Amino acid sequence: METLLGSSTSRAETGSLPERGRGDTVLDEVRDLCRDDHAYTDGTVFNSICSAPLEIARRVYAEHLDANLGDNRIYPSLRRAEAQLSAMLGELLGHPGAVGVTTSGGTEANLLAVLAAVRRHRSRSGGRGGPARIVLPESAHFSFDKIVGLLPVEPVYAPLDERLRVRPAELARLVTADTALVVATAGTSEAGAVDDVPAVAEHTAALGVPLHVDAATGGFLIPFARELGHELPPFAFDVPGVTSVTLDPHKYGGVPIPSGHLLLRDGADAELLRTASHYRGTVDHHGLLGTRPGAAVLAAWAALRALGRDGYRDLVGGVFARRDLLLGLLRAAGFEVAVQPQLTVVTVRHSEPERLVDALERRGFIASVARRYGLLRLVVHWHQTEEQLRALVAAMADADARAEGGAA
Ligand SMILES: *Cc1c(COP(=O)(O)O)cnc(C)c1O
Repeated sequence: METLLGSSTSRAETGSLPERGRGDTVLDEVRDLCRDDHAYTDGTVFNSICSAPLEIARRVYAEHLDANLGDNRIYPSLRRAEAQLSAMLGELLGHPGAVGVTTSGGTEANLLAVLAAVRRHRSRSGGRGGPARIVLPESAHFSFDKIVGLLPVEPVYAPLDERLRVRPAELARLVTADTALVVATAGTSEAGAVDDVPAVAEHTAALGVPLHVDAATGGFLIPFARELGHELPPFAFDVPGVTSVTLDPHKYGGVPIPSGHLLLRDGADAELLRTASHYRGTVDHHGLLGTRPGAAVLAAWAALRALGRDGYRDLVGGVFARRDLLLGLLRAAGFEVAVQPQLTVVTVRHSEPERLVDALERRGFIASVARRYGLLRLVVHWHQTEEQLRALVAAMADADARAEGGAA
């Protein structure tokens, strides 16, 4: 019978548990297992918001594989590292006093933000009332699809404008004083769209409704891009009314996976997330996971300290320059850029985006499709060189020419 991996699957590949250990050959087996993986450096990866971690972060991570954030008695360093990391990220987001929770990524951070809102809503309504209503942009990340399936919330979606940002006035019409939470996105992973957070916050703050900003992707881009003169709105704690922010060091922060962060403006909100530990002397938990990699926190701490603001500014400047190069190459090759990108995701209008992505894949390139918008999607990251971007656009043009030739 054909297996999922095809009929040529060798015995080692079936993952059977060998009777006799294979310590002598297992590294070769692993190499074989991973044989068709791409490397960020090989010039084929154009769909990923993640990239190769910084060398320093990789090294710190590798040196601290034992470190368990779930046990602060064995690893008291991790409490310091977590608190200092939160302070650095808070500083980046305009509020050094922010309280932070390290997470496995943006999904967990968003989940915690919604969980806090549900608990706050419940305590305010004295336990009466139905599910907590949350208002999100139609562009909200699919982590929220998971979250609304897990938590007792009623999602309401606000429509987008032609640049795929939420329409603040239409969103405002959906928000009442009883709304548990409003979500905005600072950098969608599908199109890099940055919502007008100040306009959204004006309405939420007036009603006293909490506003969570999902800056999983944009958190490490927007602050530096603004410093470099790119026109982008403020999106974080410098906007009155923003109560929490998600950002992912494992995307544009150069930190190994898993590294996410939730920051709260008001330290009292952390109480809503606290679960008491059952053990003597270990700290209470505010995240979802128990045992979790302290290596990621130390690596994030090290990355921020090693690069500093000017290091990130240089990286972000480089990524934006590559983006502009890609835009020029695409237009010169006759492709239609669908939305003038605000960040590092470039969308292309095409009659058959799925087919073009398949054709690129046959040529070795991984591109993507933003399915909700029917657009070809290319993610620019610091692992790509100018030459590699040229090769991508040449492959796109070639694939397109052949498809037309075939159809004629
Ligand atoms: C990546 C991303 C997430 C989810 O983060 P994970 O780290 O993949 O769990 C959520 N929101 C946005 C906007 C993202 O870009």
